[in-house]
Amino acid sequence: MKKTIISLIIAGSMLFSGCSLITIQTDSTTAEPEKSIVSEETTAAETSAETTAETTKASETTAAETTAAPSETTAVETTVPVVAEQKGKVVVLATGGTIAGVGDAGKSAGYTPGTLTAEDLISAVPELADVADIEAIQVCNVNSDDITDKVWIELTNKINELSKDPDITGFVITHGTDTMEETAYFLNLTVKTDKPVVITGSMRPSTSISADGPMNLYESVCVAASEEAKGKGVLVVFSDLIFTARSVTKTSTYDVMAISAGELGACGVVRDGAVYFYEESVKRHTAGSEFDVSSLKELPKVSVIFFSVDMDPGILKYAAEHSDGIVIAGAGAGEFSEGFIEVVKDLKIPVVISSRIGDGIIIPDNLLVEGTIAGDNLPPQKAAVLLRLALTKTKDAAKIQEMFFEY
Ligand code: ASP
Repeated sequence: MKKTIISLIIAGSMLFSGCSLITIQTDSTTAEPEKSIVSEETTAAETSAETTAETTKASETTAAETTAAPSETTAVETTVPVVAEQKGKVVVLATGGTIAGVGDAGKSAGYTPGTLTAEDLISAVPELADVADIEAIQVCNVNSDDITDKVWIELTNKINELSKDPDITGFVITHGTDTMEETAYFLNLTVKTDKPVVITGSMRPSTSISADGPMNLYESVCVAASEEAKGKGVLVVFSDLIFTARSVTKTSTYDVMAISAGELGACGVVRDGAVYFYEESVKRHTAGSEFDVSSLKELPKVSVIFFSVDMDPGILKYAAEHSDGIVIAGAGAGEFSEGFIEVVKDLKIPVVISSRIGDGIIIPDNLLVEGTIAGDNLPPQKAAVLLRLALTKTKDAAKIQEMFFEY
């Protein structure tokens, strides 16, 4: 019964994403869908011009003849950008999110994230076959607010293992946008490969009008298959832009361009499948990172406390009892009340000071309490990722401070 409902929902959704429906069908029967459409047109022209040609022969020769017919050649070139001269294999690791979301046909809100499978996502974009051989792995299928340290460790271990395969050129992770930046930063600090690792998602579910998932997936595979993306650390690809994992953050609850890097900006652009880079991260990452989670089952626990006017500082004591470290999202340049200061002075676990503003840096000169750690320009949720990894190595605040400037 449940299956029937999901099938109906997907069928309904196809009315609103016609391309997806057609391409699913086409992909299962032909490796090069656009060319086969052109071939049919050519066959018709050939048949009328050369009445003696047998239908079967005509269809066999159409691919070659397509290149000889100027109008057909133009059609092929404009619909299928030639991205990679030699195709490698890109592994798509699906984790859920809105990109795999299904809801009322045409609507953008009120859907169920993490519903479509990795195969569903891939078969909705047959153009992927022109860029790379695709292998699909379903890691989990959840709203990204339910991502855990276990999923992170599993992703890292899978990527580290698979990256030894010389046939695999890159990885794409499909993910919900809510916590995409945290997963991206975690992988940036723990995967040990120079091969491109790209994360993407979408703001509109697969069933909405003008869903953004298929294009984001296509562009992510283009980046993951590209030579240019090698060694650049984990990247996030969204709405034609490429961001470094360290700088990217979610900046809107609804806007289709909900991913940004604030004043630091994007590091590259994808256009018709071609990849253009302009910047790269100068921080330690991937193969250059010291963090190794291969033997871990879980990460140390870190609580993020958001400061607001007149707030009970007792929350810090509670957090300290249940955590190995704390990140405070302070006001302005990481500030908080006298009451907070008194409690923070007595805490026996590492405390990182970040800002609730979400842009700008916190340096040691900004710190109100000696022995706390300046979070640099990491937003609180990403400072928590680095602190969790730092705590796998040390509890020493001075050493953790160094890590906050290195990573
Ligand atoms: N709640 C969704 C998620 O993070 C939102 C999205 O993917 O855009 O999984």
